[in-house]
Amino acid sequence: MASSELLLSLLKNHFGYDSFRPNQLAIINDLLDGSDVVTIMPTGGGKSLCFQLPALAKNGTAIVISPLIALMKDQVDALRANGISASYFNSSQPPELQQETLDDFTNGNLKLLYVAPESLPLLDNALSGIDISLIAIDEAHCISSWGHDFRPAYVQLGYLKKRFPAVPVIALTATADKATQQDIATLLNIPKAKFHVSSFDRENLYLEVRPGNNRINQILNFLEEHPDESGIIYCLSRKSTEKIAEKIKSSGYDAAAYHAGMSSQERSKIQEEFINDRTPIIVATIAFGMGIDKSNVRWVIHYNLPKNIEGYYQEIGRSGRDGITANTLLFYSYADIIQLRQFIANVDNAEVQHAKLDRMQQFAEALSCRRRVLLNYFGEHYTENCGNCDICKTPPTYFDGTILAQKVCSAITRMKEQEGVGLVIDVLRGAKNAQVYDKNYQHLKTYGSASDVSWKDLQQYIIQLVNQGVLEINFREHSRLMLTPLAKSILFDGKKVSLASIQVKQEKLEKERKK
Ligand code: ADP
Ligand code: ZN
Repeated sequence: MASSELLLSLLKNHFGYDSFRPNQLAIINDLLDGSDVVTIMPTGGGKSLCFQLPALAKNGTAIVISPLIALMKDQVDALRANGISASYFNSSQPPELQQETLDDFTNGNLKLLYVAPESLPLLDNALSGIDISLIAIDEAHCISSWGHDFRPAYVQLGYLKKRFPAVPVIALTATADKATQQDIATLLNIPKAKFHVSSFDRENLYLEVRPGNNRINQILNFLEEHPDESGIIYCLSRKSTEKIAEKIKSSGYDAAAYHAGMSSQERSKIQEEFINDRTPIIVATIAFGMGIDKSNVRWVIHYNLPKNIEGYYQEIGRSGRDGITANTLLFYSYADIIQLRQFIANVDNAEVQHAKLDRMQQFAEALSCRRRVLLNYFGEHYTENCGNCDICKTPPTYFDGTILAQKVCSAITRMKEQEGVGLVIDVLRGAKNAQVYDKNYQHLKTYGSASDVSWKDLQQYIIQLVNQGVLEINFREHSRLMLTPLAKSILFDGKKVSLASIQVKQEKLEKERKK
């Protein structure tokens, strides 16, 4: 194993940095010890260094799988500028350049070779004679059909570990919910991988959700309260980007629309103007933002509900990169949910997409700290309230929900964590229906123990428990409800639970609407 001094000197000499970012050193040491690694780290966290530095510390060539050809080129250019011999190989290159890269590679002249997953089969022969130092798989969530960006070309990557069992594999991504994280290790054949999940918390982002009525007026009021700030408004359709940009401009603000239907020249011009602070406001579809590095975006508004939490979190994450307070505002309307469900009806993995949309909806309807909801979704068990979201700022009225939570957790335990929300509610309420009788659940000790709570309220409380990280919905297995470690401390260690009173919250919302 390399000494810390050696790694620090490589860091200084090749990259010009004095110290490691959180998790980087631990990841690098695992790889140098020969372990496989799964790394979940937010964008900008410093993932590349986690494989670039060990590639330098070891003999041989590192293979880096990366799906984005443009980013591949940027990374290789940056490495070369630091005096590191690196190259990339993909289908967009002219054949001479491909051959040149291949020659460099087979002669062992490269420390790193970047490859698009589709191009990997072309290297198959060349790989045999090579001393491979490590295999890095970037954007690893693309391998999982439970992820939000599944790419078929990723599926074959599982053979790499089988073919090169002694070569450490590192999978990296900035966005994977808990199920996807597990899937990555399984599908890449690295069951013993060490997991490094960095914190996803961006505490400078204020999180707010509002009902989506009169959105344009609400946005104009928002802009009035945030003069001279730069921000992005995301919407679902190309048409609405243009419509909204027009409305904003006619109220005297400097704004531009952006969507994939525009020519690429037009798009780069708009991006440029935004980055250079000439156009402060962009109204865009989600096509906007990938690879845009602008530190002073002060707010992000979602005109429409995003289709999953991964996308939402990436989009709001484009604000406040400088660490200074930024505002995020999500408009929630039931019409959006219906429209999104109609889109989903026509896709391949509709079941997964529906489950992800369910979670997005639960976030929007949350009655507990929104940051807790988000971080729990990514598998971080965050148990404090953040103080920097709308719920923390104007909290609903809470009551001591410990006994109710215990009943719910205990029912789930007795049903062996095999059932979804609906049946758990039926059992708690003592429902006399076929589903309950078929499984003999009427004999459970918790049967009917919450018969005084209405079906809808109980459903809301259970969603609160999911959002607080007490329960988990395993949507890979018919959305069965499962207990987290927090549930166990509620059942066995007397840990208290606060639940929001549903009635009071609804009255508050009504009042706000009338204002
Ligand atoms: P990610 O792939 O996680 O989005 P990058 O690998 O592109 O992030 O790194 C983001 C930025 O942080 C880059 O400019 C990179 O050079 C810088 N960086 C990475 N590690 C360090 C470090 N230890 N010290 C200072 N800057 C770092
Ligand atoms: Zn909060």
